[in-house]
Amino acid sequence: MKIHHHGAKAGVTGSCHQLDTEWGSLLVDCGLFQGKEERPLEVEFPVEDISALILTHAHIDHIGRLPWLLAAGFNAPIYCTEATAALLPLMLDDGLRLQLGLDARQRSRVLELISRLTVAVDYGIWTQLGAPGNGCLQIRFQPAGHILGSAYIEVKTPNDEVVVFSGDLGPTNTPLLPDPESPERADVLILESTYGDKNHCSVESRAEQLKALVERSLEDGGAILIPAFSVGRTQELLFDLENIAANAFNETERRAWSRLPVILDSPLALEVTKQYRDFKALWGKEAKVRLAHGRHPLAFEQCVTIEKHRDHLALINRLKQSGEPALVVAASGMCNGGRILNYLSALLPDPRTDVILAGFQAHGTLGRELQQGKTEVEIEQEVVPVNAHIHTLSGYSAHAGKDDLLAFAQNISPHPQEIRLVHGEHRAQLSLARDLKSLLPKTLITLASES
Ligand SMILES: [Zn+2]
Repeated sequence: MKIHHHGAKAGVTGSCHQLDTEWGSLLVDCGLFQGKEERPLEVEFPVEDISALILTHAHIDHIGRLPWLLAAGFNAPIYCTEATAALLPLMLDDGLRLQLGLDARQRSRVLELISRLTVAVDYGIWTQLGAPGNGCLQIRFQPAGHILGSAYIEVKTPNDEVVVFSGDLGPTNTPLLPDPESPERADVLILESTYGDKNHCSVESRAEQLKALVERSLEDGGAILIPAFSVGRTQELLFDLENIAANAFNETERRAWSRLPVILDSPLALEVTKQYRDFKALWGKEAKVRLAHGRHPLAFEQCVTIEKHRDHLALINRLKQSGEPALVVAASGMCNGGRILNYLSALLPDPRTDVILAGFQAHGTLGRELQQGKTEVEIEQEVVPVNAHIHTLSGYSAHAGKDDLLAFAQNISPHPQEIRLVHGEHRAQLSLARDLKSLLPKTLITLASES
């Protein structure tokens, strides 16, 4: 058996891995390259022999090149979980509109074709790829705790070898989704390593940090801008904000919080949040407890949604003129596009503005430049001075931290024969490889960044 990496070899975008076996060839994910890793969208590898595409989750860096895969002639089943199948058209529609400028009719044609090929399957059930009894590959989706519908994929060959593709793994102890559990078996594990060299701060401390920032903003005014992927972090943030408001210390605090508008400036995030509400069965324990107490963790009163572009521009103007406190969540998560750019160019010069970077910022993105403390940045060919306060809240990452990744690998018994690290910068892969080698001395650890 052979595994090729068409993307996410030495970076975190463009995930696409191919497993070739004598029983067939599978593609796992087909994502977009972003930031410094950006490259032409055309699929440069042959697709005729690929018998299925398996999607780990609906983030654009895992599904974004799907239309180009079809354009290259791919015409085989696309397997994913039910929730990923529900998110797929929402996420792709946005990309087709923004990147290709397709009109509504053209977009719906592409999406129809994808939906015809899509086979949604439940978590935890082995699915045969091909006719039974013919010695075919089997796959199984297991919860990855990263975003709604996310899964790691187990692939079993007829001679009983198991290859596991981790996809993106979520951190442990987050309230909205259950923690990922290690697979029963993996002879070969393809493991993400986004935070292979770092741990995150805890969920309690992330909420405390968020609360302190909001309180300061309520006193001094100024907007709090949170660039976020429309799926994953946005819902985690809404979830925490509802909890902070619900647990207000006293009446004054409660009143102050009720005056703070929480603005979700993204039609896509609104749609995705609806899907999170529809798939409550996939929520974690704590989220289900809140529901049982009659609370609405993802739909609370002061949450305002902006859909029309006109309203979006009007709001930015108002915040710029008035300096009133407001918390705005807008895409994209790495500030390399989307509505967050207009907020940043209007509000970065204002020292009352706070920007909270809650997720991984890839090389070459505006988010990374802000994180590095640049005093001026370029946004759409204009130089913008940065007087705003830039904060990194690592606890909102949708990715497993270093210790979570180590535990995921270590709890597989017997230990894998090989672990191949993907989806991480070279430094993160090296650091995780070192730790894995000392924990699992008999396992061969290889780095996609060195392949
Ligand atoms: Zn992801």
